[in-house]
Amino acid sequence: MQLAVWTYEGPPHVGAMRVATAMRGVHYLLHAPQGDTYADLLFTMIERRSARPPVTYTTFQARDLGKDTASLFQNAARDAVERFQPQALLVGASCTAELIQDDPAGLAANMKLPCPVIPLELPSYQRKENWGAAETFYQIVRHLADTSVRPAPREGRRPCVNLLGPAALGFRHRDDVREIRRILDLLGIDVHLVAPLGASPEDIRTIGAADFNIVLYPEIGDEAARWLDKTFAQPAIRTVPIGVGATRAFINEVAALAGVDPALALDDPSSRMPWWSRSVDSTYLTGKRVFIFGDATHAVAAARIAHEELGFTVCGLGCYNREFARDIRIAAKEYGVEPLITDDHLTVEEAIAAAAPELVLGTQMERHIAKRLGVPCAVISSPVHVQDFPARFSPQMGFEGANVIFDTWVHPLVMGLEEHLLTMFRDDFEFSDAAGPSHLHGHSKPEPVLAPAGDIVMTAEAAPAAEGDLGWTAEAERELRKIPFFVRGKAKRNTEKYAGEMGLAAITLETLYDAKAHYAR
Ligand code: SF4
Repeated sequence: MQLAVWTYEGPPHVGAMRVATAMRGVHYLLHAPQGDTYADLLFTMIERRSARPPVTYTTFQARDLGKDTASLFQNAARDAVERFQPQALLVGASCTAELIQDDPAGLAANMKLPCPVIPLELPSYQRKENWGAAETFYQIVRHLADTSVRPAPREGRRPCVNLLGPAALGFRHRDDVREIRRILDLLGIDVHLVAPLGASPEDIRTIGAADFNIVLYPEIGDEAARWLDKTFAQPAIRTVPIGVGATRAFINEVAALAGVDPALALDDPSSRMPWWSRSVDSTYLTGKRVFIFGDATHAVAAARIAHEELGFTVCGLGCYNREFARDIRIAAKEYGVEPLITDDHLTVEEAIAAAAPELVLGTQMERHIAKRLGVPCAVISSPVHVQDFPARFSPQMGFEGANVIFDTWVHPLVMGLEEHLLTMFRDDFEFSDAAGPSHLHGHSKPEPVLAPAGDIVMTAEAAPAAEGDLGWTAEAERELRKIPFFVRGKAKRNTEKYAGEMGLAAITLETLYDAKAHYAR
């Protein structure tokens, strides 16, 4: 048992739903208790799809358990095939149905249904959503790909590729695909197939006709790509083009594999991020401490952008999907931070508080955590809420994605001039610390009333990172407030650590300066 309030990922059958919903001509029969249809809302409300997901639930109830749940499943299969006439049927069980062991695969096989049936074995108590999506996509490809289909001879035709991984409910998948298609077009490369997003079983049958694969989202596409490499000798590009550096590397790799000239794509005039981040306006970004958490692919990409392209200091890096922990460990080593591999949001909250960052890049969970800690935050990865399925074009990949990322990450920060004014005029009604950034007026918090000099006060409001239970004299706290707010958290932590080591009962003005001198040595 694990006490869980928030979960970063759903059960694996939600991953399977994401693949089925992304595709055309596929139906998913899910053996599940009444109530599991809640998952429909993820697609109709968060992703705002206009059609119900292609999922039939058996929705058994308590009274069904005394009867024959297996025939319930078979009747539902018959009805679903008759009504939706899919080109392929996925069958599987949700967590509860897994316990009653009805064997959807065997039951469907006995029925001789008029379309291919793809059984899904998704261990709900060991695995999660991303794994479920990867496994489902892999099983679909393995069952439906026609192994006799091979690429046409290269003479006289443009190279062609498959884009693997985009799915329903994916963070910016819709727009990433559009941006990558644009880049491939500049390179003179055709897209044979995007899958699972928009693909039908018939499309999957011809997946072997592409020259190579591009794995856009390894969490979902890599398993299938490995099988395709083994079966069709289709190599795969695994560089994820998020960020300018990664996009350039991606273009060069794709061009080399396809045997085309990368120049036109590399010189894309729509790439504004390098100039924006070099411009003098961005000088104040240098060295800002950023904490990054999300799925491994987006977190690693974000760390590279933060470090190489924006001049931030990565002060924390982690992911919630253990299957890709290795990528995080390698990247964390590069930035000299401890990798954080956990799906416990309380552990993430503790790590963020301890690192005292000036910006958090994370998921919807980190938005809440950052809000509680009073730290600016931007979203870089699933799980996300409805606002991260925007109406406007908002990719993360390619040069346009880098433009979007620059704006998104810099927006929650206080602009340079205002940061300066906040420090200079901290008692001003408009530019006081508590007023918050002017473009995010909703952030305002009332300033705590300071106790008279000499009293010992607790400084819960003074900085995001509260460590230990040491009391601060009002005089010391007033001095602490003179330190610019973006480094105040660190100064406070260091002082408390120093006072703890020295065995002091309270922090005075003198302690503050002693600690400063101590850490300056
Ligand atoms: S079967 Fe799984 S997903 Fe469905 S309600 Fe039970 S625990 Fe939740």
